[in-house]
Amino acid sequence: MSTYDVIVLGGGPGGYPCAIRAGQLGLKVACIEEEEVGGVCVNWGCIPSKALIANAHFLTKSHHIGDAGIAISGVSVDPNKMQDWKNGIVKKMTGGVRSLLKTNGATLVEGRGKLVDKRTIEVTKKDGSTERLTAQKAIVIATGSATIQVPGFEFDGERIIGAREAVNLRAIPKRLLVVGGGVIGLELGMVYQSFGSELTVVELTPNLLPGTDPDCVRVVEKTIAKRNGVVFKSAKAEGWEKTANGVAVTIASAEGTKKVECDVVLVAVGMKPRSRGIGLEEAGVAIDQRGFVTTNERCETNVPGIYAIGDVSGVPMLAHKATKEGEVCAEVIAGKAAAKDWVTVPGIIFTDPEIATVGITEAQAKERGLSVKVGKFPFSVLARALSIMETEGFVKVVTETKTTRVLGIHICGPNASDLISEAALAMEVVATAEDIALTIHPHPTLGEAMMEAAQHSLGHAIHIANR
Ligand SMILES: Cc1cc2nc3c(=O)[nH]c(=O)nc-3n(C[C@H](O)[C@H](O)[C@H](O)COP(=O)(O)OP(=O)(O)OC[C@H]3O[C@@H](n4cnc5c(N)ncnc54)[C@H](O)[C@@H]3O)c2cc1C
Repeated sequence: MSTYDVIVLGGGPGGYPCAIRAGQLGLKVACIEEEEVGGVCVNWGCIPSKALIANAHFLTKSHHIGDAGIAISGVSVDPNKMQDWKNGIVKKMTGGVRSLLKTNGATLVEGRGKLVDKRTIEVTKKDGSTERLTAQKAIVIATGSATIQVPGFEFDGERIIGAREAVNLRAIPKRLLVVGGGVIGLELGMVYQSFGSELTVVELTPNLLPGTDPDCVRVVEKTIAKRNGVVFKSAKAEGWEKTANGVAVTIASAEGTKKVECDVVLVAVGMKPRSRGIGLEEAGVAIDQRGFVTTNERCETNVPGIYAIGDVSGVPMLAHKATKEGEVCAEVIAGKAAAKDWVTVPGIIFTDPEIATVGITEAQAKERGLSVKVGKFPFSVLARALSIMETEGFVKVVTETKTTRVLGIHICGPNASDLISEAALAMEVVATAEDIALTIHPHPTLGEAMMEAAQHSLGHAIHIANR
């Protein structure tokens, strides 16, 4: 029996930073991982998908860079080479995590862990042997989430696949049908569309990317259509059958039932927390109806000494939220006055163009009875956007009318994923539109769109007409 101060169950972007921070704070810590450190994010989520997306972006640009006087010919996609390159990045990242755990004094225990009581975890190793670890101070549940499967669309790894398989394809499907028009479905669907797949998206609700600013969604939807993609909304993928050339998916909507033939079906309807079968119920840990472990702002569950972080502890299911919770949790365990008191968690959708948001949308503000002003600045008139040939989209700033306090910022366009950090900081420091408008943004940059959008909300943008 090995004894630690803290045992972290799961080595994803929640678990490993928690173990590292605990080690930094002088705690004796073990991190248990049954697959590879880095979790979904590093192994088959954020990192692999963004590597492929970067390639898709480059390829798309190569198609029209000729307009700017750069002639490129013979551009082609080698999916095998691309996978090897992408796997190299993943390997580098997982190697880095392993080494960081070690450097910070955290012990990596490889195997599947299960609570046997409120203080003990039994780890089953790959060779079948078991080891029991005892935690003197805390057990942190960081087991993350798993893909939701749709009945009738069970993964076969060939025709019917999930995101895990989709980031590992060594052949570009000629025709790809995506079930689920949410973040993961559209990110990966658009990647393969850029690589040449004919894309069909089937979304159950009336809108793609439910909950996202509708103006942003419209820009992305327009891009999908421009590339000959077909989107079925308020539609259900009911089943599929094998055909001579692939599979035919039955799609039901108010207009009736239709069959669409494709080569590969990507099912991307979301992720569910991995809270079952690891001894939590037996230990008395409260789990809500959706399967999330219930925690407070200190990452504590209802059972003293048991904590939960990351995807398993609730939405938003995002890597950076998991990491911040991991750090907070380690500090709470070490006796520091830490808590989850952030104002906002930025969210990014790596479609083409990207969408990045913080805070609430105009519609959500109105639902809350708030009087709002909106400032919007399009990339189509921004010099920097023109010079990089990426003029789709805009920055939209939603502010409270009376105070001009920033309530939300929604960006659709080039490098939205980088631009959003300024918006997140603005919300953290409770900035007003004046604060952003008065901040000198260097020229010529994409960031100027943020300044101009704030100015627009105040009625004095320089480079577009004000109301
Ligand atoms: C395709 C895709 C793309 C994504 N892109 C982004 C993105 O761009 N940005 C972003 O912020 N988020 C993204 N996400 C979400 C992100 O991956 C998750 O929010 C993040 O990984 C959650 O971290 P976590 O540590 O809570 O859980 P996980 O990453 O799920 O890690 C949990 C770890 O625990 C291990 N584990 C589970 N149970 C046990 C057990 N009993 N014993 C031992 N080990 C166990 C698992 O093997 C896993 O390694 C994406 C997700 C997917 C699927």
